[in-house]
Amino acid sequence: MSESGLLVEVVSPDQLELSTTVDSIVIPASLGEMEVLPGHIPLLTMAKPGVLVVRRDGEDHHYAISAGFVEVLPDRVTVLVDAAEDEDEIDIERAKAALMRAEDRLASVETQDVEQRFAFESALERARARIAVWQHRQQHSDHDD
Ligand code: ATP
Repeated sequence: MSESGLLVEVVSPDQLELSTTVDSIVIPASLGEMEVLPGHIPLLTMAKPGVLVVRRDGEDHHYAISAGFVEVLPDRVTVLVDAAEDEDEIDIERAKAALMRAEDRLASVETQDVEQRFAFESALERARARIAVWQHRQQHSDHDD
C-alpha cells in the first residue's frame, strides 16, 4: 500500500477523462462531500452531479462530474461517470441555458411525477456544477493576472 500518492482515474463512456496521481481528492458522494487520502479503507459509493476536486502539490484542480460510481482503494480511486469536464472544457453559455431550462421544467413538473422531477433535478445539479467549475476558473485566472 502506497502512502505517497493516490492514483485517480475518472472514466466516462466516451473516454478516460483523467488519470493522475494526487495527494487527495474530494468527491461529491451521494451522502455528502467525501475527502479521500492515500491509505483510505476500501469502499464503494455513488457520486452525484457536482464538483470533484483533486489536490496535487498544494494546487486544486476542479472537474464537473455527473452521476456515477466511485471505488475507493487504499492507493487508487476510480470514478465512473456519464460525463466529466475540466475547467477549460466548460461551455458556460450552454450550462447557463441548461440551468434555466431545468429551473423552468422543475417549476412546472407535476409533484407526483417522481422520475421527471429527479431527471430535472439532476440536470439542474449538472448545470450548477459546470457553472461552479467555470467560475472557479475565472477567479483563478483573475488571481494569476
Ligand atoms: P445539455 O442539456 O446542455 O446537453 P446535459 O447536462 O444534459 O446538458 P450531459 O448529458 O450531462 O448534458 O452531457 C452530454 C455531453 O455533453 C457530455 O459529453 C458532456 O461532457 C457534454 N456537456 C454537457 N454540457 C456541457 C457544457 N456546459 N460544457 C461542456 N460540455 C458539456
